[in-house]
Amino acid sequence: MPTTSPVRHRVTVIPGDGVGPEIVHSAMRIIEAAGVAIAWEEAAAGAAVFRAGDTSGVPRETRDSIERTRVALKGPLETPVGFGEKSANVTLRKLFETYANVRPARELPGVPTRYAGEGIDLVIVRENIEDLYAGIEHLETPDVAQGLKLITRKGSEKIIRYAFELARREGRSKVTAATKANIMKLTEGLFKRVFEELATEYPGIRAEHLIIDNVAHQLVKDPAQFDVIVTTNLNGDIISDLASGLVGGLGFAASGNYGDDVAIFEAVHGSAPKYAGKDVINPTALILSSVMLLRHIGEGAAADRIEDAVLATLESGAAVTQDLARQTGGDVEQATSTSGFTDAVIGNLGRAPMATLARRARTPDPTASRLPRWDYSVGHYAAISRALVGLDIMLESDLPIEELGPSLAAVAGDTFRLEGVASRGTHVYPGEAVGDSVRWYTARYVAAEGREPRGRDLLDLLGRVAEHHRWTHVERLQSFDGELGYTASQGA
Ligand code: NAP
Repeated sequence: MPTTSPVRHRVTVIPGDGVGPEIVHSAMRIIEAAGVAIAWEEAAAGAAVFRAGDTSGVPRETRDSIERTRVALKGPLETPVGFGEKSANVTLRKLFETYANVRPARELPGVPTRYAGEGIDLVIVRENIEDLYAGIEHLETPDVAQGLKLITRKGSEKIIRYAFELARREGRSKVTAATKANIMKLTEGLFKRVFEELATEYPGIRAEHLIIDNVAHQLVKDPAQFDVIVTTNLNGDIISDLASGLVGGLGFAASGNYGDDVAIFEAVHGSAPKYAGKDVINPTALILSSVMLLRHIGEGAAADRIEDAVLATLESGAAVTQDLARQTGGDVEQATSTSGFTDAVIGNLGRAPMATLARRARTPDPTASRLPRWDYSVGHYAAISRALVGLDIMLESDLPIEELGPSLAAVAGDTFRLEGVASRGTHVYPGEAVGDSVRWYTARYVAAEGREPRGRDLLDLLGRVAEHHRWTHVERLQSFDGELGYTASQGA
């Protein structure tokens, strides 16, 4: 019989949709069997909540519970089409600023893959709040959609520092930043710069930067070369699923979403609706996510015991779930059920796997450095010199470019001159127009020779353009401490 720990933790549990309740139940049973005393606060989120008319998918009571407990175990959530526009998962991550999505991928005993024996043991640390997942999207015309890619120095610093601190506490020797800074020089470029500057604070850890597409390539070719990969939100979403595929698939992929105050643990996979209620889904991903949860709440010994029991179960080959049977050409009909696998793990509590673990994940050190390297105070920003350089005006037009260009130049006035017109980021006027027209253009106005535009001049210019054209949005062109804060059009 397990001895129950005296500490009683409060944890919010969200069963979720589809297979969620089954896998959450499995993890809760194992935690209880391992002797950890948790007072679970069950809370709702996802499909049923949307259907009941709450367009966020996350009701007030659930938010209150997480605010109280500061830690949640969560099943997958569906965002049914037509009931809400935003994913309840993303809402939860953002509401509690869980900025670090940590997804370990390591070779598991008894889970054969093409890479068996290579010793894959990597962690993907994905920024979880910013980037295109900020979800700031607009239809500029009926046929032109635009999404804002938002990267901040503070958001980048937090996630990159998190990655270096994780490497330090787990004795990992290398952190790779994966970006597309060669193309997106201001957004991904900022992330890369912050990485390079922060790396100087961690001299014992090798810091390298690779372009994200090469990381995808290298992950498939030689995954064992990676240790910690830190990256922006969309890049991280894609390569972490790729990494899951290297070590057995979504049935085994665990994750934690960590913020400064709250942490939410969930499997990487979704609600797998076709398997819902059938007792056939592999619960390992959520069990291993709950191992991360236990480490987070200071139950490291129980976490180690459960992790050992999972590895011993997989290694034994005595409990093979359907997904693994399919991958290994086994008999799917004879595969172990979700509840059967759970029973097997419980039966193996206290047993050590034969395979030696290269390392255990380590509980975050609360004394680890969280001091910002940069100054984010009002005074700091006030001290940065800014100059107003001009205005980009995006507009919809059916005019041929030979007419549109001169008509935009004609309204520039004395303070500005039309520097050029671009279509989808490519220069099309003046000069030879290239590319297909999508009826949406960017007119770039810059200060005329010897003129220093002021805010009011921008509004006057916009007013003159609006008299003749349907503008859709504007961007102020600025320089900061003498450096231009915008990029040139392709071919300009
Ligand atoms: P999914 O639920 O992850 O399922 C895709 C496939 O992955 C399944 O059909 C199954 O493959 C395999 N799979 C997933 N979990 C497995 C497990 N535990 N064991 C074994 N195999 C597993 O992805 P989806 O079908 O694209 O998404 C379904 C819903 O989940 C959507 O509403 C989506 O928005 C939501 N979702 C939620 C989260 C989250 O809550 N964090 C994440 C992703 C998706 P086979 O068909 O080959 O057996």
